[in-house]
Amino acid sequence: MTATELSHHSPTFPLAGRAKDLVGSMIDSSTSLLAAQQHDIVRFAMGSPADEAVPAEEFREIAGSILDHTSFTYGASEGEPRLLDLLVKYLAGTPDPASEDRLVITTGGMQGLDLACKLFVDPGDLVITESPTYTNGSATALSYGAQLLEVPVDDEGMMVDLLPDLVARTHRTPKAIYTIPNFQNPSGVTLSLERRKALLEMAHKWGAVIIDDDPYALLRFSGEEIPTFRTLSPDDPLLFSVRTFSKILAPGWRVGWVDADPALRQLLINGKQAMDTCTNVPNQHIVAEYISRGGLDDHLVSIRELYRIRRDAMLTSLQSHLGEDYTSTNPDGGFFLWVTLQGKYEGLDTRELFEIALAQGVAFIPGPALSPGGHFRNALRLCFASSTPERIDEGVRRLKSALDLALAA
Ligand code: PMP
Repeated sequence: MTATELSHHSPTFPLAGRAKDLVGSMIDSSTSLLAAQQHDIVRFAMGSPADEAVPAEEFREIAGSILDHTSFTYGASEGEPRLLDLLVKYLAGTPDPASEDRLVITTGGMQGLDLACKLFVDPGDLVITESPTYTNGSATALSYGAQLLEVPVDDEGMMVDLLPDLVARTHRTPKAIYTIPNFQNPSGVTLSLERRKALLEMAHKWGAVIIDDDPYALLRFSGEEIPTFRTLSPDDPLLFSVRTFSKILAPGWRVGWVDADPALRQLLINGKQAMDTCTNVPNQHIVAEYISRGGLDDHLVSIRELYRIRRDAMLTSLQSHLGEDYTSTNPDGGFFLWVTLQGKYEGLDTRELFEIALAQGVAFIPGPALSPGGHFRNALRLCFASSTPERIDEGVRRLKSALDLALAA
């Protein structure tokens, strides 16, 4: 067979049944798609920290100093002892303190989600997700064969009051509830106190684990702090918390952690040993050394302010360019806001808009990519975190041109 014939030949692989449930992520794929573009693009698509929010100089200096022999060998599966120790001390000053026997360092938040599903989700299990949701998280549940139940979100987060009815209609008992309580990805909304309490109650009624995925908690820039699940229900065995340094330090390090009942720790370690042995060792040392220097709190104060200014800039630009033809959420923290097209733009499909917008030099994530069922045809997720206010205004101006072109098409 020639090379050309070979490339047209589609072999039959002895694929596992679960391979069909590997649905991929438009969010992640946008990284390579955008990298391949030759023209200037305002990046509202990926949820990346601002370049200015990454302590790059300090990281460079630290990287040079930590690379001794301990960085070049395998590390402990539960995480580097120094990082675990510093993390326990750091968390003591946050709303979610944790002892070391609860913590396992993970390869980003994504691995925490994978471990949660590995431990709790059997094929066919019912898993509740928000709608819209972070579809990498729902994709993880799908990859373990979950059946998803999407529950709508409003300004106070998941509409928990709808849950009993929606669940009753499935004639099943949920096994896990996947929620992003603060400044949800993608909507930017925060789960209210009443709903947190109600969700805890329902989880206990069903014996379902709450996968509490909260990468943005430390990035609140306005409004009142709301008690965390752990504050509301200390030592709750049904709480499985997934955390990451990706949004507060840098996603490229791929360092996160899970906080779970100590009785689960060995299983989590076993899960990691069947997956990646240990999280990247030098990266853990870099994060540990950064924390040990004591600058994390000041860093958080300064990036919160940076992101507040950017949220305001995006809200102002949307208002001035799109007028009455949209609604948007108004997040109190995090990276994202959620725009729903209205008025003259209401009939547009943001999946089609994506290509037009890319040609105009602006990227976002279309609503349907943020719901497992492909809902939210006329909505889009915008990341305000990565661009300066000037670039945000330019990006929204380009978005407006794309909307008008899509309307005329
Ligand atoms: N959960 C949510 C809600 C996220 O927004 C992200 C990152 N976009 C993750 C988990 C994954 O975090 P990490 O990059 O650390 O794997």
